[in-house]
Amino acid sequence: MGKYLTLDDVDVAGRRVLIRADLNVPIAGGAVADDFRIRASLPTIVRLREAGATVVVCSHLGRPKDREPEFAMGPVADRLAEVGGFPVRKLDAVVGPEVEVAVEAAAPGEVLLLENTRFELGEKKNDPDLARGFAALADVFVLDAFGSAHRAHASTVGVADHVQSVAGPLLVQEVEGIGSLLADPPHPFTVVLGGAKVSDKLGVIKSLLPKVDMMLIGGGMCFTLLEAEGYEVGSSLVEEDRLEEVRGVLASGYGDRIGLPDDIAVADRFAADAERRVVARDAIPGDWMGLDIGPDTARAFAAAIRGSRAVFWNGPMGVFEWERFREGTDQVARALTDHAGYTVVGGGDSVAALRLLGLESEVSHLSTGGGAGLEMLEGKTLPGLAALEKWAEN
Ligand code: ADP
Ligand code: MG
Repeated sequence: MGKYLTLDDVDVAGRRVLIRADLNVPIAGGAVADDFRIRASLPTIVRLREAGATVVVCSHLGRPKDREPEFAMGPVADRLAEVGGFPVRKLDAVVGPEVEVAVEAAAPGEVLLLENTRFELGEKKNDPDLARGFAALADVFVLDAFGSAHRAHASTVGVADHVQSVAGPLLVQEVEGIGSLLADPPHPFTVVLGGAKVSDKLGVIKSLLPKVDMMLIGGGMCFTLLEAEGYEVGSSLVEEDRLEEVRGVLASGYGDRIGLPDDIAVADRFAADAERRVVARDAIPGDWMGLDIGPDTARAFAAAIRGSRAVFWNGPMGVFEWERFREGTDQVARALTDHAGYTVVGGGDSVAALRLLGLESEVSHLSTGGGAGLEMLEGKTLPGLAALEKWAEN
């Protein structure tokens, strides 16, 4: 998967190290609602702290349009300090003279957190001045944000033009976790896909189909496939503009590797307390919508998972946020986690579902980055990784 230096290759004691982490966590009522990504990033921060570096951490948070206070990093700094058990100094800007002075003044082992990288308009444009601003804060840059490595932004790619740059341990773990599955999966290799939109995952479907023994598809996306096969899916989620492409996939030589639900849990409206019924896939009432795979399908998917030696799962089987439509996701998650083979789960909502069920520690590899993981599975080179390559060449 390309070549890059790691923390083993650089001396950090007494030096300033900028970590681009993925601390993009949900915030509710001014506090961190789920600290999974903070905990995942912690070992890298601790390692650099203990190695005597001045540790400067940055991340984006949410999708600010401007500098709205609800996207400020204060709650993230507080939670990082809490789970880390060390002080975290939160700075009020992303780059600039005041930040440089603060970093200069910090002692080895101190941890500073920059403001939301997306508070700078140049971040998403990969503006070279902003990239130089990041580089001015550091002697070494550590890209540890797998979840953002598929985006060519100033804090993920641009900065690596100006300062020695290495892959962080979390990034390496992610890349290797997914890479080993892609390179040489044990067979039977089963991929389970769900989630809302088939358009998000058509690339993955196409690139993985030749490698898998079986691809089980549930979630909202299965209805576009069912409609493409000629079923009436009522008011279920369908992406009409993808029907043709989906028909092409189903008709390809690999189409018979795809497993679609036989029964569906349907609802009379899109609501947590909607009326729920289980119907066969050829009996979805016209004004009802499929919000989960049915119990027979859940059993069949679970059995297929248990019979596989490697499983990759992305995307919930239904609207798992609502208890009434959680059963399919629950069954798949349980089959996956009492499975002895190699199991990889990727995707923000899939990981959230596992956590909701208390099963997150039971898989071989839990991927923090949804989009980046999917792009890797599509066989694309992540821009963040590509930007590290030149430092490994000399
Ligand atoms: P991930 O983040 O794991 O990649 P996605 O973002 O693709 O997953 O999809 C997750 C979302 O899909 C969830 O919010 C879930 O409620 C929704 N979803 C799953 N099944 C359905 C369905 N049948 N109809 C509508 N939405 C669905
Ligand atoms: Mg998602």
